[in-house]
Amino acid sequence: MPPAAKDGALLPLMMPFEFLTRTTTVLRTAAAPQLIFLGAPGVGKGTFASLLCKAWKIPHISTGDIIRDAIRRGTPEGLECRALAERGELVNDELVIAIVEARLDERDTQNGFVLDGFPRTIFQAEQLNLFSGPFLAVDLFQPLDIIVAKLAGRRVCTMCKKTYNVCEFRPDGSSDAFAANGRAGYEFKPILPTPEDLEKCKGCANLQQRVDDREDIVMRRLKIHMKEEAALKRFYAGKKQLESFHVKKGLDDFPKFQTFLEHAAAHRRLFIRDGRSGLL
Ligand code: AMP
Repeated sequence: MPPAAKDGALLPLMMPFEFLTRTTTVLRTAAAPQLIFLGAPGVGKGTFASLLCKAWKIPHISTGDIIRDAIRRGTPEGLECRALAERGELVNDELVIAIVEARLDERDTQNGFVLDGFPRTIFQAEQLNLFSGPFLAVDLFQPLDIIVAKLAGRRVCTMCKKTYNVCEFRPDGSSDAFAANGRAGYEFKPILPTPEDLEKCKGCANLQQRVDDREDIVMRRLKIHMKEEAALKRFYAGKKQLESFHVKKGLDDFPKFQTFLEHAAAHRRLFIRDGRSGLL
């Protein structure tokens, strides 16, 4: 049975060989979106990734979530990562590559996936290209000062893992978190638990700040991120695999973002049919 495309239509039974990508055990067609979300911590990568994955019925693979879960469960990988992750530093490449490789070998990735938080280094990007692809890297962009204020406002439910944000920006540039240095054009409403959330999960009434969202650790994470991201963007831009999306309204940008991605993916598939640009 061939995999179903995201709109429910079946992909053609006979796909030319070069349209297939192979990992150790999972076959994926070129029509299966293999997306990498780039962007600073706090820009909304995780939220956009989970909304998109729900809409397209593909898994959202967040290395940060996998690592935090391993730490909570006290697995050997978790123990190895704990000190570095809690200081906001990157864990070693080999370990995180092994985690991603094992995850991409699971059958639910056959219709595509979104990688969130991986790759973070050129070495990770190169290794990823060896065992899967082709990818479309999507850079979610936002000015740094806005990201810092939003990160400080992020809260998470430790039971259901849902993320919220208490920070607010108004379109006239005013903001409680940002009063001295407002910026017009950005509009972020606080994201708080709804009555439905509170009914579904008791933990949502008692939100926590992640250890690595504290301001000193946020600054360290952003510094590390800026250094790595410039190189990653060059890496994917050089392969014509990079698209950029400016996030100005958070969740309200999502419909525009989804349309933007559909166009980007369709444009690239056209190139595959024309056979002009390799696989992407
Ligand atoms: P995140 O939630 O994506 O910010 O990840 C939380 C922490 O997990 C990071 O600060 C790192 O310690 C670790 N981590 C997540 N993804 C990676 C990665 N691709 N490479 C190295 N460390 C990672």
